[in-house]
Amino acid sequence: MSNTTWVCLTCKKSHRKDSSLWSFVCPTCKAKCEGVHWKIRIPSPKRKRQWKQFWEKYLNEKAQLDEFYRDESVQRIELEILNLVYSREEPRKGVESFPLRDTRKPG
Ligand SMILES: [Zn+2]
Repeated sequence: MSNTTWVCLTCKKSHRKDSSLWSFVCPTCKAKCEGVHWKIRIPSPKRKRQWKQFWEKYLNEKAQLDEFYRDESVQRIELEILNLVYSREEPRKGVESFPLRDTRKPG
């Protein structure tokens, strides 16, 4: 059973919960938090530049993933932060996939 770190981008606070949750709302500001696999290292919010770069890239990669699911003409995506390579032609190999789409399943 793995955990998900839910991060509020408004408060810059992290909340570690188990990954059976599908979404998590910040208890402080009620914003919807971003669920990040626990293996992904999130920079400290004190390091403002790294924090900003990380989230820009993270959200960009998530958008690419959505695009991949939506648009069949996208043949291959490589996501550095998510540590994922998706290709419609080659089988995935040597790449650990994070269950971004399956977090509702138990176990
Ligand atoms: Zn918040």
